[in-house]
Amino acid sequence: MIHELGVARALDNHFEPRDARPDDYLLHFSGGACLARVTHVGAADADAGDSGEVFDLPRVRDYRRRPRRVTYLFSLGAERFFLALDDRVVAPAGFAYESMSWLRRAEPQHLLFAAATASQLDRWYRDNRFCGRCGHPTELAPSSREVVCPACAHIVYPKICPGVICAVVSLADDPAEDRIVLTRYAGRTTALWALVAGFTEIGEPLEGTVRREVMEEVGLSVRGLRFYKSQPWGFTDTLLAGFWCEVDGSDELAVDHSELKEARWFRRDEIPLERTGDQTSLTGEMIERFRLEGRAALGER
Ligand SMILES: [Zn+2]
Repeated sequence: MIHELGVARALDNHFEPRDARPDDYLLHFSGGACLARVTHVGAADADAGDSGEVFDLPRVRDYRRRPRRVTYLFSLGAERFFLALDDRVVAPAGFAYESMSWLRRAEPQHLLFAAATASQLDRWYRDNRFCGRCGHPTELAPSSREVVCPACAHIVYPKICPGVICAVVSLADDPAEDRIVLTRYAGRTTALWALVAGFTEIGEPLEGTVRREVMEEVGLSVRGLRFYKSQPWGFTDTLLAGFWCEVDGSDELAVDHSELKEARWFRRDEIPLERTGDQTSLTGEMIERFRLEGRAALGER
């Protein structure tokens, strides 16, 4: 998964006021799209993502005219990332605004994680330019990652929305007959097979989100919830928690067609291979683990 970067590129998001140096990354977003330089290398290149493309992010030295409002974001190992808060910047030569959904299919993974996480912080900074309590223009706290209101002292912290990924399985007497529910969203052009998923409501524990979302989307009751892993997912301001669970009672699917195009039970040998190369997402990892390991995937990690 994209946040699993190893010790050499471990995330350090401790905030300190820092000055950007020429070699530091300096990201800018416009309309949710990220300034990036894309290299078309062809799908056969081992370094390329499943789109066959690699990309790079701009560094301070790439800008001929340096952005005026710059804040430190985080480091991945020795590499430091900053964000330009200017509405507009003069894009460095060779760089253009690329949608996050497009970048999601490109490599390298550590820059994709950096761009996704930076996009979450960029949305947070832009959405809190004015105090939500009194309407006064806000300021950035000098030595912590907080937006503060000088008029009423209201403090705003970065927004993280919890959500769940639910791998619903049916275990048979013969393990070869074990099955998993895969879903496809309606109204998306690139809808891969996925797992039941949804955001946590206020007042709801994660386990409650799992039970509610599985019932709402595919009409199943579940039991035996087992937490698998969590994943920060900056693309949607989310922290995802992945759960395995077993169908409880009837396995007849009642699909919510307002949200899903379709949902189906798949035996392991029927699972589409479209997620096999997906090293980015928790959804992809859970589907692939069930395809390869079956019920053993539900046990000890
Ligand atoms: Zn205020």
